[in-house]
Amino acid sequence: MLTKIIAEDAIVKLHKLVKTAEKITIVTHISPDGDALGSSLGLYWFLLELQKEVKVVVPNAFPGFLSWMQGSDKIIQYVENRKLAEDTIKDADLLFFLDFNDMSRINGLKNATLEATGKKILIDHHPHPDIYCDVKISHPEISSTCELIFRLICRMGYFQEMPFNSAENIYTGMMTDTGNFSFNSQSKEVYFIIHELLSKGIDKDEIYRRIYNTYSADRMKLMGYCLSKKMKIYPEHKAALIFLTLNELEQFHYQIGDTEGFVNIPLQIQGIDISIFVRQDKDKIKISFRSTGNFPINKMAEDFNGGGHLNAAGGDSYYSVHKTIELLEQAIANREKYEINT
Ligand code: 5GP
Ligand code: MN
Repeated sequence: MLTKIIAEDAIVKLHKLVKTAEKITIVTHISPDGDALGSSLGLYWFLLELQKEVKVVVPNAFPGFLSWMQGSDKIIQYVENRKLAEDTIKDADLLFFLDFNDMSRINGLKNATLEATGKKILIDHHPHPDIYCDVKISHPEISSTCELIFRLICRMGYFQEMPFNSAENIYTGMMTDTGNFSFNSQSKEVYFIIHELLSKGIDKDEIYRRIYNTYSADRMKLMGYCLSKKMKIYPEHKAALIFLTLNELEQFHYQIGDTEGFVNIPLQIQGIDISIFVRQDKDKIKISFRSTGNFPINKMAEDFNGGGHLNAAGGDSYYSVHKTIELLEQAIANREKYEINT
């Protein structure tokens, strides 16, 4: 049995809104990851089962290694079709905001969602949500938004109705947001949920292979290059930093998603509990932050226009690569500042 983590009044209110809604639109964050897509598509297939007219809208493209996820071909991308994305949000009588806590995380979709007249439901596991909603289900202690979707469906009394495609998507996001159950996954209930998902017929080993064993040769070579040539270690601050410029990415025929997971690798070095990965994109510099233990890496990310979880966060920089590295090195050297503030 699962603990009733989501408040009863939220379940009752949400259930009522779902019952009366006809057109439902699900929105998730920029550069959607496994949990963003898994929760959106997990909910999508479930709502289709309830005979709703459902759409999923995302700000931009997702990595190719997630394109096997059932329903991903039906997702509307704002960068590809702005009008359709905006209309789908404005036409909905119910909107779900999944896996983000701040409107800045949906970029160009922000205005359409602010103008939308449909009822709004937030389901998320990032701290301090700052979004106006009719129902707010925010649980930073939970592994993933996918786990919250599973709990929600069960609490509304629909476990039997949960289709295979929902189960597969939900498992995928739980797996990717916990690094294949290697962090944020200590709760016994995570494994109870996996047990239930397996009973729906999902093949967890196959899902693992589809996510982690389908890389291109170029991606592996880029990883080798990062580790042998680009990894800087700051032993006195127990930190590591890797950066890649546009030029370097082009040399390795970079595709979206190719650098996914690189930030986690330096944490395998003994004595390192902070890892930072910096990637120069066309319009900005994307920074990924990771930590282990109690170091609140989201506090450091806040100094770089971002945020996130205790051990996984992200941010952006609009300075040059050189200046960005300098600022990050200063942050690393001042790591105590972030520890004191917890
Ligand atoms: P990643 O490094 O995998 O892109 O992001 C890790 C986590 O950091 C995400 O799950 C998300 O919670 C958070 N995150 C990433 N980028 C940003 C950002 O630009 N702003 C905020 N607020 N959070 C971010
Ligand atoms: Mn998530």
